[in-house]
Amino acid sequence: MALMPKRNDSAPSFQEKEKVIALAGNPNVGKSTLFNRLTGMRQHTGNWTGKTVGVAEGHCRLGEQPMTVVDLPGTYSLFAHSEEERVAKEVICSELPDLVAIVCDATCLGRNLILVLQILSVTDRAVVFVNLMDEAKKKGIEIDLDLLSDRLGVPVVGLSARSGKGIDDAVRVMQTASDGVAPLHSDQEPRALAETAEQIAEEVTIKRQERDVRDRTVDRIVTSKLFGFPLMLLLLALIFWITIEGANIPSALLAKGLFWVEDRLMEGMNALGAPWWLSGALVSGVYRTVAWVVSVMLPPMAIFFPLFTILEDLGYLPRIAFNLDRCFCGCNACGKQALTMCMGFGCNAVGVTGCRIIDSKRERLIAMLTNSFVPCNGRFPTLIALISIFFVSAGGFGGSLLSALALAGLILLSVLVTLGCSKLLSCTLLRGEPSSFTLELPPYRPPQVGQVILRSVLDRTVFVLGRAVAVAAPAGLILWILANGKVDGVGILWHLAGWLDPIGSLLGMDGVILLAFLLALPAAEIFLPVLLMAYTSSGSLIEYGGLEELRLILSENGWTALSACCVVIFLLFHFPCSTTLMTIRKESGKLRWAILAAVLPTVIGALLCLIISFVSRLLI
Ligand code: GDP
Repeated sequence: MALMPKRNDSAPSFQEKEKVIALAGNPNVGKSTLFNRLTGMRQHTGNWTGKTVGVAEGHCRLGEQPMTVVDLPGTYSLFAHSEEERVAKEVICSELPDLVAIVCDATCLGRNLILVLQILSVTDRAVVFVNLMDEAKKKGIEIDLDLLSDRLGVPVVGLSARSGKGIDDAVRVMQTASDGVAPLHSDQEPRALAETAEQIAEEVTIKRQERDVRDRTVDRIVTSKLFGFPLMLLLLALIFWITIEGANIPSALLAKGLFWVEDRLMEGMNALGAPWWLSGALVSGVYRTVAWVVSVMLPPMAIFFPLFTILEDLGYLPRIAFNLDRCFCGCNACGKQALTMCMGFGCNAVGVTGCRIIDSKRERLIAMLTNSFVPCNGRFPTLIALISIFFVSAGGFGGSLLSALALAGLILLSVLVTLGCSKLLSCTLLRGEPSSFTLELPPYRPPQVGQVILRSVLDRTVFVLGRAVAVAAPAGLILWILANGKVDGVGILWHLAGWLDPIGSLLGMDGVILLAFLLALPAAEIFLPVLLMAYTSSGSLIEYGGLEELRLILSENGWTALSACCVVIFLLFHFPCSTTLMTIRKESGKLRWAILAAVLPTVIGALLCLIISFVSRLLI
């Protein structure tokens, strides 16, 4: 996402002759969907408020005219209370846009028209797009668009941005309006009053049913004190269970295939007469690490991410945020932190950037510092694999059910630690009162399964896997060199691991594990592959054929239930990846906050591991 350049900036990102169309509107009305339709870009869309934080910009053609389309952050008003409102207001009130296209939600027009009236009071270069017409129709709502256009004094077009219906009309209207055609009734002076908005909405809405009873009933259960939390955990456990059950067999097949290729590559290299160090570094180092990454991570990701994206598309994530809102306020933090935490489940760096939606600097810092306490996409597959190994001996249905429950328990733990730490920070370094905010619960929308699969495969699975492979390949090379470069007859890797061993064993782990955590600083995705590379590089190579073999490798290297437990805990709570740290440094403007963001979870993780290993040694 690019930040908005001013029109006269020395290096604007669009050409002078290009016209600029700004998309404005409340959050969650389909601006990003429309933006993607117009520009052909893949701005991430999701059914929750606060997703578009920065300003995205793309290019398209309206007839012969090249256009720049900017997707402004969603806002409810132009009174600059928050960062988003400030950005949106600045752009709309500036000379920059040739046209402001205001996107509205047809199912709650009254609320949307407040912003429309505010915008129309500062610019007459505007058109109104009433989006989500399909959803309105389903709810029995019909809107008299001509009458609305008449009342507002600007062109109005009805749209279903998701299916693309009405886009051609929208393009035509934008083309004419941006060519400087005067607004339809420029003599009308719209007043920015909520009553006016409601009055117009009443007038133009032809048929309205009772507000969606089904959504309200579902919400009453999903966000109730009694069922809210148990339902959340059950849903999470169900997703994990499907992932674990589904991933095991494809993972084993993939591994078989990839390691068969490794043997052929090695034979090929030998036949070509390659020296041992070259074939070793390339095949046993680079290729094998990449093969581990792919076989361990791809199957769980390919199942978990689409399921998670379906929940997001359905509109369930804001309900989670709603349930957690009370807890965060109780910790003197901002309720919006529940949303940024949910973003962190995808990617901590994204979660940290998302903290811009929090207005108070104090609360924003709390949210940034604790964001990495929830596991991101990069850590989920490893957690899933390790937990499954842990319970794999139970076998079958019982084993995977236990694993799923354990994972859901871990997520609960990560949320509890996030809350505890937020409370701690707000009582010590970042003292202050919590601010209030209104969280909007968007309507439930049936997920578009095809789109969800495509998006979660492209945006998440391929992205995470690509990042993992990009880091794993050089890491594999370094690791191979470290394992095979000998000092005093022992591989450098083992010297390093030996130095870390005392700390490792104090924490219930070993030196190799700590080394793998350190080497995985660029991307948490490679923790497990690095670890396995290190263990198997000692010569006793075991072919990976599934979770059972993975468990064998680990137990051959001294892993016990205690080490697995400590590794899982430390995987949840340790320094975030370098991208997240750099993002915290950038967003907070101070290096010291990035350092604290690394130290805080590491200290918590180390303390928890110390306690676990101490107690278990006492018991055994
Ligand atoms: P933004 O926050 O305004 O950028 O909204 P998004 O573009 O992210 O859309 C929010 C949600 O509404 C997503 O789940 C979209 O798939 C959905 N959506 C957008 N336009 C339409 C539409 O015309 N019809 C329906 N049914 N859903 C839509």
